[in-house]
Amino acid sequence: MGRLPHGSDLLESLNQICREQGIRLGRIEGLGAVKRARLGFYDQERKSYDFLEFDQPLEITQLTGNVSLKEGQPFVHVHVTLADHAGHAFGGHLASGTEIFAAEVIIQAFDGEPLQRGWDDVTGLPLWSPSGT
Ligand code: ZN
Repeated sequence: MGRLPHGSDLLESLNQICREQGIRLGRIEGLGAVKRARLGFYDQERKSYDFLEFDQPLEITQLTGNVSLKEGQPFVHVHVTLADHAGHAFGGHLASGTEIFAAEVIIQAFDGEPLQRGWDDVTGLPLWSPSGT
């Protein structure tokens, strides 16, 4: 549990902590504010991300995510909801290019066998195997 550095990239900071701490399985939550944001929206027909860029201060009203392995390395997957000065909210898949103003996060590491991300043909995404398979 801690504060992330002012001016650093939100997604990269979370990935770096997990790599440095050897966190391979876990959950993430957080709040704070960003100077600018870049969010992904997955186009399910094209099977690719569109990216939205917000070049303005925003509150992090919700940050939720998980940690698993992708290509053998800790990999963070995070979604955020951000609010502007009028309280209007935007949300999506956190992408690199989101710059921290201030962020307080909790990373809860779990014991046990880490989940591995592998290519999923149906969605075109690097997903976990479905439970029970
Ligand atoms: Zn996502």
